[in-house]
Amino acid sequence: MVIIIVSTLVLTVLICKNKVIVMRKKQFKAESKKLLDMMINSIYTHKEIFIRELISNASDAIDKLYFRSLTDDSVALSRDDFKINIELDKDARTVIISDNGIGMTAEELESNLGTIAKSGSLNFKKENSDSENSDDISVIGQFGVGFYSAFMVADRVEVVSKAFGESTAHKWLSEGVDGYTIEECEKADAGTVITLHIKEDNENESYSDYLEQYKISELVKKYSDYIRYPICMEMSHQVPDPEKEGEYITELSVETLNSMVPLWRKSKSEIKDEDYNEFYKSKFMDYSDPVCVIHSKTEGQATFDALMFIPENPPYDYYSKEYEKGLQLYSNGVLIMDKCADLLPDYFSFVKGLVDSADLSLNISREMLQHDHQLKIIAKAIDKKLKNELKKMLSNDREKYEKFFKTFGLQLKYGVYANYGMEKDSLKDLLVFESSNADGMTTLKEYVGRMADSQDSIYYACGDSVQKISMLPQLDAVKEKGFEVLYFTDEVDEFAIQMLMEYDGKKFANICKDDLDLSTDAEKEAIAKKNEESKELLDKIKEALGGEVASVKLSDKLGSHPVSLSTEGYVSLEMAKVLNSMPGANQGIKAQLVLEINSKHPIAAKLSSADDDMLKKYASLLYSSARLIAGLDLENPTEFSDMIAELI
Ligand code: ADP
Repeated sequence: MVIIIVSTLVLTVLICKNKVIVMRKKQFKAESKKLLDMMINSIYTHKEIFIRELISNASDAIDKLYFRSLTDDSVALSRDDFKINIELDKDARTVIISDNGIGMTAEELESNLGTIAKSGSLNFKKENSDSENSDDISVIGQFGVGFYSAFMVADRVEVVSKAFGESTAHKWLSEGVDGYTIEECEKADAGTVITLHIKEDNENESYSDYLEQYKISELVKKYSDYIRYPICMEMSHQVPDPEKEGEYITELSVETLNSMVPLWRKSKSEIKDEDYNEFYKSKFMDYSDPVCVIHSKTEGQATFDALMFIPENPPYDYYSKEYEKGLQLYSNGVLIMDKCADLLPDYFSFVKGLVDSADLSLNISREMLQHDHQLKIIAKAIDKKLKNELKKMLSNDREKYEKFFKTFGLQLKYGVYANYGMEKDSLKDLLVFESSNADGMTTLKEYVGRMADSQDSIYYACGDSVQKISMLPQLDAVKEKGFEVLYFTDEVDEFAIQMLMEYDGKKFANICKDDLDLSTDAEKEAIAKKNEESKELLDKIKEALGGEVASVKLSDKLGSHPVSLSTEGYVSLEMAKVLNSMPGANQGIKAQLVLEINSKHPIAAKLSSADDDMLKKYASLLYSSARLIAGLDLENPTEFSDMIAELI
């Protein structure tokens, strides 16, 4: 049979056994033509999804006939007879996907394949069509474009189909936007056979890959593993020749490429820990078992299965720009999105897993998905589940939780701070901190539970490490009172706590702020009096420091240490450091520094007896050493060292 396409592109002449049949080429409906045109000229890099689309259509068609078989005896097939076949022919450059499902009549071929209008995708295209080369195709490509996706990899697509119960079969044939033909043909049983004539390779695209067994079996596993019917393909293997030692022969066998039963759809009692672990490691490319597996089946406002994992270590690209959070999204066992970001809040960006819901349509576009009510309900339920699971781990397996928190706790702290503290209340009880309490890390609740009657604030101190904080001069006085101090070593800690403002009615207090109120009234009066008496001296020191500090004070809270730096006002030392290190910061944010001098230390007496010249030197030395203790740089370390040497 020879097919000549006449140049008007409207008529197709078929010369068949000496009979000439002239067939009118039918035109695609306008919307379909646009979608098809986008497919053909697609620059979308994941053209491979065509296989998912065609398999899922085949599976739907089988579903329909299978359901019919339950009530209709004329369906001679039983559950195990249904399958999807894939055949590859490298020489002919064809990929053939066939199913023994419900099939299509001529009218159905016409209406289903001639007039596809994926309104969601097309609307999206319209809204975003301002730039010609924009890769909006990549956006719609990801979310299912159905049958037409075949045209991303094939320049000629043939669909032979026989509808169940019909006596004739039909062939739908198209080479692209110019139109399609439908003619009668032979086919024994009901079902559909789709033949894709794979495009020739070009410099950008190696279409020939889709003719490779390994590639197709890899794609089936990736996208359609959980299709409930077997997807079979004849595979060739090299096996040792039994007759000639050292030589190999090719053996052919039909293999089922998909595992068919999604792990998450099995009942929990059927699944062993190893099953979960193996599934996690192979699916999410990790070497270590997950620390936590959350498998849930939810019914109600939204019906979905979720299978989620908390990794032991951050994913290798977790801290890179390329990392994308999200859960895989399945609609009835068919993958519709690899990373659905809307399912996970940022503070759970490390969670891996998937959601399978029959409530979502397979061909939903990203734009529609974002507004999908069901998806929002699912996301909310997942957020709640994860929080509950972490709470459980915190109370049942503290060691495991603390390990988890050391790896991912930072995300939860950012979660408290982000979005103006929208989630602070649901996250605050998941935070744990190091503290001056010897028994390891503490939750805020545990801290408050240990608070003395006389204690009205939750005390904290900031620094680069627990070790550095534990050497802060201010710490002794607080500890002397028997008060516990939380150690904040992450930059975000203080910001998160500012967002919380209080816990259980108790305010947070930075022990390095000058308004730290630990003293009795009598003590306060005494130190105020000393400050008053030494006003002239303190002013001189402040003046000698040339505006570096907002004030100089005598303090009775420094234990045995001579000096320390504290701050007044909202911005603490740590906050200033963080704010100034942010991208785009102009280093303009300064904490209001207060140089505190220990009134009980011999240095205080020494200062009051020094002459003006010496006082300047002492002031500079003490200020520099207070800066060092607070973890701040010295502007001129050489001068500092020279001055020490001079005084020695
Ligand atoms: P969707 O599957 O989202 O409806 P498609 O473009 O993939 O969109 O397919 C359009 C229609 O063509 C399907 O709804 C179905 O009715 C029909 N169809 C596609 N493939 C097959 C098949 N293998 N067997 C029977 N019908 C099919």
